[in-house]
Amino acid sequence: MDYKKLAELLFPEITKTPEDWEAAYPARNLPEGAKVTRLGPSPTGFIHLGNLYGALTDERLAHKSGGVCFLRIEDTDDKREVEGAVPMLISALSYFGINFDEGACADGEKGEYGPYWQSARSEIYKTFVKKLISEGKAYPCFMTEEEVAQIRADQEANKVNPGIYGEYAKHRDLTLEEVQQRIADGQDYVIRFRSNGDPNTYVNLKDEIRGEISMPENNQDVVILKKIGLPTYHFAHVVDDHLMRTTHVVRGEAWIGSWPIHVQLFEALGWEMPAFCHNTVLMKIDDETGSKRKLSKRKDPELGLGYYKELGYFPEAVREYLLTILNSDYEEWRIANPDTPADEFDFSCAKMSSSGTLFDLNKLNDVSKDVLAKKSAEEIYDFELDWAEEFAPEKAELLKANKEKLLKIFDIDRGGAKPRKDLISASQIFEFVSYFFDDYFKVETEMPAECSKEDIKEIFKRYKESYSEADDNSAWFDKIKVITEALGYAVKPKDFKKNPDQYKGHVGHVSNCIRIALTGRGNSPDLWTIQQIMGKEQIFARLDAAESRL
Ligand code: GLU
Repeated sequence: MDYKKLAELLFPEITKTPEDWEAAYPARNLPEGAKVTRLGPSPTGFIHLGNLYGALTDERLAHKSGGVCFLRIEDTDDKREVEGAVPMLISALSYFGINFDEGACADGEKGEYGPYWQSARSEIYKTFVKKLISEGKAYPCFMTEEEVAQIRADQEANKVNPGIYGEYAKHRDLTLEEVQQRIADGQDYVIRFRSNGDPNTYVNLKDEIRGEISMPENNQDVVILKKIGLPTYHFAHVVDDHLMRTTHVVRGEAWIGSWPIHVQLFEALGWEMPAFCHNTVLMKIDDETGSKRKLSKRKDPELGLGYYKELGYFPEAVREYLLTILNSDYEEWRIANPDTPADEFDFSCAKMSSSGTLFDLNKLNDVSKDVLAKKSAEEIYDFELDWAEEFAPEKAELLKANKEKLLKIFDIDRGGAKPRKDLISASQIFEFVSYFFDDYFKVETEMPAECSKEDIKEIFKRYKESYSEADDNSAWFDKIKVITEALGYAVKPKDFKKNPDQYKGHVGHVSNCIRIALTGRGNSPDLWTIQQIMGKEQIFARLDAAESRL
């Protein structure tokens, strides 16, 4: 067979040579050790935590090493494309601090290694397909989908490995004339790679996360170019990552199975392989069964990135949490370096988990509390307002009208060696401070059982009589003690615990009557400070309202 003639017959329109493309995309001029990574999402419109997890790996590897991280849109599967998916993906990732140095942008693309939309790279793929055909390493296959399905069914019935290989690769050796005839007849065809792999021979592959993996060679004649003239994932990945000069391919573990195919393709094209980092899927502990399972699009809203934005998680907190699950020693590092920017952490693939990574919302919340404890009241307020403007406009109005008050509220127990750690996300923060606002105030806790209705009324009466805004925290508390004692409650909780028969309750019960009246809650930040922010009018109104509910 004259393979050159075959190549010309199939791709007369391709006049560029592999050398032309090599020259168009020269080696990158980067410092020694700089890594080039890429994110290759399909524009399906669903952006999930797994994308962010992978993207953060790409971003850290590249930027920690002075390299480049780019965005390539893998849109060769036109059935899955969703309008507007790319701008959405870019803005979702950018919200979490993932910004690409080059590649697809919301309104086009930037960079010297494009096009970054695979659907626009057809000429490039075809040039290399043509090269493989001209060397006898690929061939046209005219089998219909029905024929391929029949082969598979027969293979399954006979319990032999499924696929197009060996004797099942029926069109491997068609003559030039046969090919010409079929084309003249208008038959559709795909291009398959001619594999010379032997599944009894093993290849040893090095994964940056998992170490050595030994796998059988691929013997399937996989499709590299589809009928529509676009490449399959396998071929596009190899061509693009070579020409775009990717040094580290970070992708999901689902691709490990087809890795030997990619190895063969790199070899057939005479190219050096990049490093591979196959990351794990994100798992969670199922609420019902208590066992570990993959996060699911259907069952777990926390898989979608929109979830974090809508609830108003600080992007920095999500990023910080992802780093703790991405690298095993991050948490330890953070404890030793509480104020160092996360970007200074020495991120590496070797420290990534090779078995399912556990994602835990409670842990995210704890990390978030730590991150927010270090923010200033202004930062919390600004974030809160931005969130409300997008997701809760009526709350935004309230936030704007009460800026000074909110800054004081967010300042309660902020700073110092032991700051309060109770703020998690914008939605939770709003809930947390909502009792300051009459429209949102609700009674969440009952009055302490130790205090009778009559006593509560008396507590409120005496409290109002003695209340002075000018009192400092200890003068204020002294007055509560006076009321406590006068009404037969213990001033010291431990006295009550020792002799419960001698008292009705203790000072904590008395002050909680006031706390619940003012905040609706049994737990709150420092009550004196809260009252300083509320002011006498609101305090008295709340006490009267609580009394009328008794
Ligand atoms: N488009 C592929 C995916 O979404 C990308 C895999 C890769 O990064 O190579 O799974």
